[in-house]
Amino acid sequence: LGGSISRAIQQMSNATIIDEKVLNECLNEITRALLQSDIQFKLVRDMQTNIKKIVNLEDLAAGHNKRKIIQQAIFNELCKILDPGKPAFTPKKGKTSVVMFVGLQGSGKTTTCTKYAYYHQKKGWKPALVCADTFRAGAFDQLKQNATKAKIPFYGSYMESDPVKIAVEGVERFKKENCDLIIVDTSGRHKQEAALFEEMRQVSEATKPDLVIFVMDSSIGQAAFDQAQAFKQSVAVGAVIVTKMDGHAKGGGALSAVAATKSPVIFIGTGEHMDEFEVFDVKPFVSRLLGMGDWSGFMDKIHEVVPMDQQPELLQKLSEGNFTLRIMYEQFQNILKMGPIGQVFSMLPGFSSELMPKELDSSNPKLMNESRMMRIARGSGRHIREVMEMMEEYKRLAKIWSKMKGLKIPKKGEMSAL
Ligand code: GDP
Ligand code: MG
Repeated sequence: LGGSISRAIQQMSNATIIDEKVLNECLNEITRALLQSDIQFKLVRDMQTNIKKIVNLEDLAAGHNKRKIIQQAIFNELCKILDPGKPAFTPKKGKTSVVMFVGLQGSGKTTTCTKYAYYHQKKGWKPALVCADTFRAGAFDQLKQNATKAKIPFYGSYMESDPVKIAVEGVERFKKENCDLIIVDTSGRHKQEAALFEEMRQVSEATKPDLVIFVMDSSIGQAAFDQAQAFKQSVAVGAVIVTKMDGHAKGGGALSAVAATKSPVIFIGTGEHMDEFEVFDVKPFVSRLLGMGDWSGFMDKIHEVVPMDQQPELLQKLSEGNFTLRIMYEQFQNILKMGPIGQVFSMLPGFSSELMPKELDSSNPKLMNESRMMRIARGSGRHIREVMEMMEEYKRLAKIWSKMKGLKIPKKGEMSAL
């Protein structure tokens, strides 16, 4: 998508006269690119209208940076679609909340339930899992296996066929055990069927969830809007989790899901493993949708901030996919010098604006075992948890950079629009 949009903008900027016709052609190109990334037709059409309103020809003609104006307008429009205007219900640690997961079969509910539980457990919560999927054979076994691996209490039955009964029993039991996050996994069907929606309605009515999360496979493409809407019509969906973002999905479905449910995306799933789960953040997501992060902005910053003599080496290493702890450390150091950190980090997908512990070892991270981390923690006067978090951050960034391997890195002055 990033490529097609930047091509469209590039073409326009080559035109000597920017008139309505040239602008329209550019917007049509962009529209095609957005549709190809699975953004729903109606959303794209509305966006086109809005962009035309924002990008007025006089500004373009006056020699302002046309590409920047249009690029920014697209970015802002996409962000707007992803922000339904009100945050999702957030469970409070220590207070009992019931969270019900819904979605079609195979969308990733059971996996995501465990990820969600595990995520909170790591932060000191007392989560529990209830398997109210009595439709699919093996559903309970799967949940049991996941839960056991993560050491999370679970409830379910091989015999009982009434999902409502199990859901109620499970929720009751974990309320008594003072769990603060009771997660109800439900069944799905291969397609949207009346029976499924009726079952969801009943489970919801019986368990009175504080939050219903709609789980959606990011690869379902244009079907996203209808699917999300169908669930929203039977249960009070309050948040969305988009799964399988590690695959080839283009991500545009997330916009449809938000538009259809009027609920925000709260997490994304990026793999089959328990910890391949990220808090959703609108701006980095849109950057990613439009290309590999705000690459040009990031490059500008690198040129601005990294000492001249270090730039070629850094860029070389990054394009080789060679992202070491040492690089991360040095870049954080450089970035720290630049003032408003969040601004810079928000340009890249996956960067959190939290400060890293400053003292860190730069050699092979694979050798970073617990006793080593302990030593580093002691030596730097930090808690071991901080060192562990830093290592997690490192792994996450390394994964992102590894995808950039082989990427052609633009030199200063060669920056393309996106
Ligand atoms: P459910 O039928 O909705 O409960 O879906 P499951 O949780 O059983 O997931 C269906 C398949 O998708 C399983 O093979 C999961 O391992 C896989 N899966 C779930 N989430 C992700 C994800 O974020 N990335 C990838 N690659 N696979 C996922
Ligand atoms: Mg399941």
